[in-house]
Amino acid sequence: MSAFDLSGRVALVTGGNGGIGLGMAKGLASAGATVVIAGRNKAKADAALAELRAIDPRADFIEIDVLKEESCRGAVKAVADKFGRLDILVNNAGTAVRKPPEELTAAEWHLVMDTNVTSAFLCSQAVYPHMKKVGGGKIINIGSMMTIFASSYAAPYASSKGAIVQMARSFAVAWAKDNIQVNSILPGWIDTELTKKAREQVPGLHERVLARTPAARWGAPGDFAGIAVFLASPASDFLTGTAIPVDGGYSVMA
Ligand code: NDP
Repeated sequence: MSAFDLSGRVALVTGGNGGIGLGMAKGLASAGATVVIAGRNKAKADAALAELRAIDPRADFIEIDVLKEESCRGAVKAVADKFGRLDILVNNAGTAVRKPPEELTAAEWHLVMDTNVTSAFLCSQAVYPHMKKVGGGKIINIGSMMTIFASSYAAPYASSKGAIVQMARSFAVAWAKDNIQVNSILPGWIDTELTKKAREQVPGLHERVLARTPAARWGAPGDFAGIAVFLASPASDFLTGTAIPVDGGYSVMA
């Protein structure tokens, strides 16, 4: 059997109804996992689910608002109850507010921190007993290049991504005894809804990213299928607490 085989595993991907989350969900489904995507936007989810079900008819959607504790805990429980187990959690849901620090409101700060970090804490804590029950599991947190670089418009976003990566390291240490591996992915500039607004607002951003990226292109959601399978599979069993850039070389460019 391949070390990348996910047959028999059940995965929950928050924010899996589009963008990078859907790219990872498709990878996990292709490797044999039963994948449940979670998000708020039902219309987006219907389209995403149709794509996923073309790979695996067992794929499913569950509504979640990651800003609500009961919604996070309820979604995890519902997936574990329905499929009888939960082996893989991808903490991918995320948002950004682009403003200089002096203009940010407390509500905007909390929105970004709660969506990007607190949700991952809640979902991870909720999956723990289910992973323990089946003898182990895999948690993948989505960080960002913004844990390495700074931007004058990204204070809450960068802070939240620094926190989610550090949280993954802490959980990795705490749950190694339970055979649960917790790792992070650091995407570079990826062509999704999230970056669409930034590209519209910031003149020349598109070209600057192309010039700054050795691969000379923006990333695509499909670029995350392979890394998700690797981090969700037995192939990465001795890897925990790491943060892996998937950025076309952006972070190593001088
Ligand atoms: P998208 O905007 O396409 O995806 C974000 C997802 O998060 C959506 O599916 C959205 O679901 C979900 N989401 C946001 N808020 C909530 C909420 N309150 N409850 C439930 N779901 C929510 O962008 P990306 O695919 O680019 O982003 C995915 C992850 O990748 C994020 O964590 C982002 O920070 C990270 N990332 C992206 C980069 C990029 O260049 N694109 C670079 C670095 C990191 P819904 O539409 O239903 O609200």
